[in-house]
Amino acid sequence: MSVCEACGNPAKLRCPTCLKKGLPDAHFCSQDCFKKSWGTHKAVHVVEAAVELFNPWPKYKYTGKLRPVYPLSPKRAVPDHIKRPDYADDIKGYPYSEMKLRGSTTIQVLNKEEIEKMRTVARIGREVLEEGAKAVKVGVTTDEIDRVIHEACMERDAYPSPLNYYNFPKSCCTSVNEVICHGIPDRYELQDGDIINLDVSVYHDGFHSDLNETYLVGNVDAAGRKLVDTTRRCLDEAIKLVRPGTLYREIGETIQKVASADGFSVVRTYCGHGINSLFHGAPSVPHYARNKAVGVMKPGHTFTIEPMISEGVWQDEQWLDGWTAVTRDGKRSAQFEETLLVTETGVEVLTAKF
Ligand SMILES: [Zn+2]
Ligand SMILES: [Zn+2]
Repeated sequence: MSVCEACGNPAKLRCPTCLKKGLPDAHFCSQDCFKKSWGTHKAVHVVEAAVELFNPWPKYKYTGKLRPVYPLSPKRAVPDHIKRPDYADDIKGYPYSEMKLRGSTTIQVLNKEEIEKMRTVARIGREVLEEGAKAVKVGVTTDEIDRVIHEACMERDAYPSPLNYYNFPKSCCTSVNEVICHGIPDRYELQDGDIINLDVSVYHDGFHSDLNETYLVGNVDAAGRKLVDTTRRCLDEAIKLVRPGTLYREIGETIQKVASADGFSVVRTYCGHGINSLFHGAPSVPHYARNKAVGVMKPGHTFTIEPMISEGVWQDEQWLDGWTAVTRDGKRSAQFEETLLVTETGVEVLTAKF
């Protein structure tokens, strides 16, 4: 069910002009709300049609072929009845609850009720990711995928965790080809042969979940398919280590072994993380070997493993948006992520595909 642009209630009507022009669906719950919004809504028909695309940093030396396609679409609204994390309305998007604990290596142990809430929010995250995955096609913009993911959150009473987190402008991350992570959905149209990672995080009933997958767009070459397969295997092999008593630093040993065996490298700048009532907290879980991660797994810990595996060098750099991480050599990078619970005997993959 979609939500009304005017009031946020469930909505079945769609603006006929948007439909006719092939613009993103605008939903309304009633003729009344549609009429009330007409004065402001009609601007969409003109603005969208006349939008002029541009590269925001024409002098920046891009490492690969991908370019940002601006302008970004306007920030998406979240109706008032959906509970928001502390950073959602902060001018700088600061997550104060997280910042208070920055530097702490104490890992939260969740109780039964908290674990139940993690199960619920993780299932929602999985459903939302699958909705986004259905939208991945040649010619679709990453902004359109963001719209689908945003709406899927609204339909499930969930806040899209990335939205306004340190002022991140969109509701999910879309990372294409040489983008390692934190790509911002924009007007780039997916091309035949691209790979794209969709990273979805959602907040519901006081808890966050976080997962991602890399998808093939049309016909991807054999090297690209192998990169994606190996990355998935890196995550699956790492998950097999999760049980009480395992050191967090062991995760990276396995991932590096699997990646290196196929000639790939492991990104070092971004790590898995604790996740619960905070989007990011202890432990930090590096994906490379010989790391110095602190902590031992205990029942009730919830955290992510999210290896980023690259075709060429492991080094990354950032676009001038302050978010988009790309490979230094412009070669492709893939990623998979799940939110995990350490149980008495092993692991529960909270975000597992059903
Ligand atoms: Zn994620
Ligand atoms: Zn994550």
